[in-house]
Amino acid sequence: MSKKIAIIGSGISGLSAACHLAKAGFDVTVFEKNNHAGGRIDVLKENGFTFDMGPSWYWMPEVFDKFYASFGYQTSDFYDLIKLNPGFEIIYNNNDHISVWADLDEIYHEFENIEKGSSHELKAYLKMAKKIYQIAMGDMVYKPFVSWTDFIDTKALNINLLSSLLYSVSYDVRKRFKHPYLRQLLEFPVIFLGATAEKIPALYHLMNYAAFEQGTWYPKGGMYKVSEAFEKIAKKLGVSFKFNSSVEKIIIDNKKATGVKANGNYYPADIVLSAADYAFTELNLLDEPYRNYDLNYWNKKTFAPSALLFYLGINKKIKKLKHHTLFFDADFNNHIDKVYNTHKWPEKPLFYLSTTSKTDPTVAPENHENLVILVPISTEIEDDDASINAIYQDVMQRLEAFTGESI
Ligand SMILES: Cc1cc2nc3c(=O)[nH]c(=O)nc-3n(C[C@H](O)[C@H](O)[C@H](O)COP(=O)(O)OP(=O)(O)OC[C@H]3O[C@@H](n4cnc5c(N)ncnc54)[C@H](O)[C@@H]3O)c2cc1C
Repeated sequence: MSKKIAIIGSGISGLSAACHLAKAGFDVTVFEKNNHAGGRIDVLKENGFTFDMGPSWYWMPEVFDKFYASFGYQTSDFYDLIKLNPGFEIIYNNNDHISVWADLDEIYHEFENIEKGSSHELKAYLKMAKKIYQIAMGDMVYKPFVSWTDFIDTKALNINLLSSLLYSVSYDVRKRFKHPYLRQLLEFPVIFLGATAEKIPALYHLMNYAAFEQGTWYPKGGMYKVSEAFEKIAKKLGVSFKFNSSVEKIIIDNKKATGVKANGNYYPADIVLSAADYAFTELNLLDEPYRNYDLNYWNKKTFAPSALLFYLGINKKIKKLKHHTLFFDADFNNHIDKVYNTHKWPEKPLFYLSTTSKTDPTVAPENHENLVILVPISTEIEDDDASINAIYQDVMQRLEAFTGESI
């Protein structure tokens, strides 16, 4: 009889684990507290509008291709993948802007317009970022690193990779580029990882390689098409799903996980795999003696930022907007300081605007736009209507000023 595996959580990681384990012959059950799969990849559908509530940037399409290929599929079996052009646009003060085009030559041109000589620097920078990307994706990302021997039998000790762990993202970026627009453009992708670019290892230059050389993509219909695809594959492989099943505890007997308790019932399993957040799993699902780290450890950790989100259905087309627009027409360092250091509401925030209706007519009624506004905020502030309202007013006023339209 095949071994029983209980997976906690049906986000992208739980779904991916479920597919691989079912393919390997295990009897897999996924416990999900929500009534549907996807986790943070969630969708809001209302009055003909579709809003991605979580991720909206689809980078590194080869990772998804590889996942589908493991099960005999290709990406196009589940959704149309559209390459965005521009991939994204950044708005700075005085309506200055820079577009990250699908064609690298056009990006070099944009750089050169902003800082003389920077296109050559960008070429050299991307060459280095590509090397890091190839080593990381080839030798690191697909290794579990559960033991130090994983380092020994890989090329992970490669000198390029090691040096990329010693320096920060901003060290390289600031050495090569002087103009603040270019620095912000190259440093922004790592902001969401849980620290400022000064503290994120240069390994993460790989994100710029992905953005600039591989491009920014969009699955037609919305990002939830991805989790929908993973769920379909899991079901085809025989994975069982228990929705509305909140796991309260991982049951341990004689130092071995023997099952989970969900909604008051005990479900035996040979192996329990938690794909819920690590800190949550440790502090809420495991009794103290079985945790790897104590509360003290987790309290000292800096988590990736939280976000304030607004979903707006607009009854007209807004000409100037792109699929992805980043509004950096505010004090960049001041906002980041509030997210990571002072833990306060930003007064004039940086914000990200997603308008997938620019690419996809299925996500908004005809001649309408679906706007998702995301403001990064600290994980350590309390909800406060006055601050939220002030941010909304500020963001809308800047949006109207930029687009020249009443929204
Ligand atoms: C607003 C936002 C924007 C983002 N943008 C991007 C982006 O553009 N590109 C990108 O690559 N990433 C982005 N991310 C990050 C990305 O969404 C996450 O890294 C990814 O979805 C996490 O997947 P996961 O499976 O690890 O966790 P989750 O998606 O959080 O899944 C965990 C699952 O476990 C379930 N669960 C938790 N506790 C229990 C329990 N006790 N019992 C049963 N079930 C439980 C949860 O309900 C959930 O379904 C964004 C995230 C957010 C919030």
